[in-house]
Amino acid sequence: MSAPSPVIAIAGLGVESSTFSPARTEAPAFHPQRGADVLGRYPFLAPGRPLRAAADWRGVLVGKALPGGTVTASAYADLSGELIARLEELGPIDGLWYDIHGAMAVEGMEDAEAELLARIRETVGSEVIVSTSMDLHGNVSRALVHLTDLITCYRMAPHEDAMETKERAARNLVGQLAGGGPRPVKAWIPVPVLLAGEQTSTRIEPAKSLYAAVEEVETAEGVTDAAIWVGYAWADEPRNRAAVVVTGPDERVVTVGAERLARAFWDARHDFAFVAPTGTLYDCLDTALASTARPYFVSDTGDNPTAGGAGDVTWSLRNVLARPEFQGSSGPTVLYASLPGPAAVDTAVRAGVGATVTVTAGAEVDDRHAAPLIITGVVHAVRHGDRDAGTEVVLRVGSVYVILTRLRKPYHHEHDFTDLELNPRTADIVIVKIGYLEPELFAMAADWKMALTPGGVDQDLQRLGHHRIRRPMFPFDPRMAEPDLRARIIAPSSRPLGGSGE
Ligand SMILES: [Zn+2]
Repeated sequence: MSAPSPVIAIAGLGVESSTFSPARTEAPAFHPQRGADVLGRYPFLAPGRPLRAAADWRGVLVGKALPGGTVTASAYADLSGELIARLEELGPIDGLWYDIHGAMAVEGMEDAEAELLARIRETVGSEVIVSTSMDLHGNVSRALVHLTDLITCYRMAPHEDAMETKERAARNLVGQLAGGGPRPVKAWIPVPVLLAGEQTSTRIEPAKSLYAAVEEVETAEGVTDAAIWVGYAWADEPRNRAAVVVTGPDERVVTVGAERLARAFWDARHDFAFVAPTGTLYDCLDTALASTARPYFVSDTGDNPTAGGAGDVTWSLRNVLARPEFQGSSGPTVLYASLPGPAAVDTAVRAGVGATVTVTAGAEVDDRHAAPLIITGVVHAVRHGDRDAGTEVVLRVGSVYVILTRLRKPYHHEHDFTDLELNPRTADIVIVKIGYLEPELFAMAADWKMALTPGGVDQDLQRLGHHRIRRPMFPFDPRMAEPDLRARIIAPSSRPLGGSGE
């Protein structure tokens, strides 16, 4: 007879929410899954896989939303209330896998994932072993580390190792329960650095070497897991900063490993650069016009909908349309993706391809940088049935082809353009609301620059106006003194939370 399988619950809410965007995230955006459906999210828990057989996995509630604005208090109350109620129904458990992103801002809360885990602990008890998996763009407070037993995050940006990370969190939890040893020691070090995601791609230095060191630290005897969080910069909360956590049975070894990683991060702080040359929108257009590289791509980064921007900021398009070079139809061909404007889309659809229309679009959600835009142009294309946009139309204004959508949509693929009778390969300039170029666009671009434009995910962090982050913080306080990078050993959740929050 083998020992009975441990009962492991799976629960969590994940979203990356910008508190600098006036947009709000509601409960349906999380597409919550419940019960057995939760297991279907994870290929490594498919029937027949070793991890599936190693425990009695119980889906509770897991919801993940696309990046967006702050989660409303009522959406959080509904989702967290249901999660706790389902956990109560489940009865006693041995372990809980807390599958979160770690950058969820909720109205009226400042450390939402830790507060939710505290409620989970009240429900399941302090003896349950909790393993947390996160995005490296999440934020790790002392409270969160206190409440969990194991904690890890992605080691790649872009996040090609997302599923591998979740599997590691699940496997470490199973291992801890099977081993039955003392709870892991947790060495946590907050690193007072706050950087944009576009500065910290692990494909380039210094993040590449920094994350390579994570795996080296993890191979040491006495370490279960090592992780570095870049943090999430577009929320204005005291917890926002980089962090290191190393967990394992050996206090000395996890301390040495965590201090090595925190020191390496701090020492590299001046070396994090954007993944492409940056400039103002005006500079980027000047450079693109002067260049012979075609197509020339410009990332309109400040309102990137896949990072949490509202997507309907009109500031950049207004400035593009005002350029004298683009006034006539014989000017350089410019593709602009994109601007939501449901009423404008309806007007263009009714008028039909070839008609000239005057429409108003954008700035329904985020009107802080520019007002709704009035555009007169010729309807070039109409397309219905897109899963994100609903309906898309293209208006030609001078030599600029403007994509308008019913709902916000990321433009990451060549077919997103060709489906609209647009050819990005033969265009002169392609402007996309995006950060780093997605692979298909990157491969197509003869040259590329990132425009530091205003919006909810402005990459120019220092002009955003953080008020609530801890100071001093690099690069906000460039001449700050050396921070304390010694490991804080965080007590298990069954003992009271000590310390000042530092
Ligand atoms: Zn991320």
